[in-house]
Amino acid sequence: MKINTNGIVYIVGAGPGDPELITVKAMRRIQIADLILYDRLVNKELLDYAGPDAELIYCGKSPGIHAMPQNIINEALIKHALEGKKVVRLKGGDPFVFGRGAEEALELAAKGIPYEIVPGITSAIGAAAAAGIPVTHRDYAASFACVTGSRCHNDKSPIRWDLLAHGVDTLAIYMGVNQLPFIREELLKHGKATTTSVAIIERGTTKDQRTIIGTIANIHTLAVSMNLISPALIIIGEVVRVREHLLHAEQQANILIR
Ligand code: SAH
Repeated sequence: MKINTNGIVYIVGAGPGDPELITVKAMRRIQIADLILYDRLVNKELLDYAGPDAELIYCGKSPGIHAMPQNIINEALIKHALEGKKVVRLKGGDPFVFGRGAEEALELAAKGIPYEIVPGITSAIGAAAAAGIPVTHRDYAASFACVTGSRCHNDKSPIRWDLLAHGVDTLAIYMGVNQLPFIREELLKHGKATTTSVAIIERGTTKDQRTIIGTIANIHTLAVSMNLISPALIIIGEVVRVREHLLHAEQQANILIR
């Protein structure tokens, strides 16, 4: 097939949930797109900025419907770009943080299709800030790590909880809520104190945001009792304590931290 050289794929981060937390560059790509393939965690309000003729294709999972398989998404990106379209692949947060953006970019690169990565605010940064938790702080944390909970039972490439427990001050755990008992066990086994502070932020940066505060010892019980749902992010570390002070300041200044 002859390549139409106008075709391009923009792999775009939509930010963590609040539609205002998208970048100017991402918004411009949405406005010029002929086609947008979007994921479940993307705030649908952002699609209102697409042009009237833009085609919108949902790629995420919904109850009873399987997500579009990755190879089908890759094929669609390639096919439409070869037809000369401006294709936006819109993903929650940042496309390169647990977003499979690299897999898509590699496929495009292998086929010689032009693409551009537009980074986004990842949910760890967005949700923590919206909950009043700084991921670093001069007194509490000089390092933070983004960790996936989805590989907890993968023996071939296990997560090094031993190193994370000792070597990193703040842990931001994506896709980890269903793995809380396992994560707790690993961290305690490797020397984290049961009293270490933990926050779970559900639907961070959205109007439905909920924040649960506890310790490694009790956070799972709290999460179950509050019927926590996805998407949610776990922050583990003493920076969680800063929130109390910010909340206090918030009450005094009457500003909004949820
Ligand atoms: N690329 C995305 C992450 C995709 S993995 C990013 O950069 O943020 C999906 C996980 O991200 C969810 O299981 C959850 O842990 C986290 N997540 C995404 N949006 C979230 C939100 N608004 N609030 C809390 N966690 C969120």
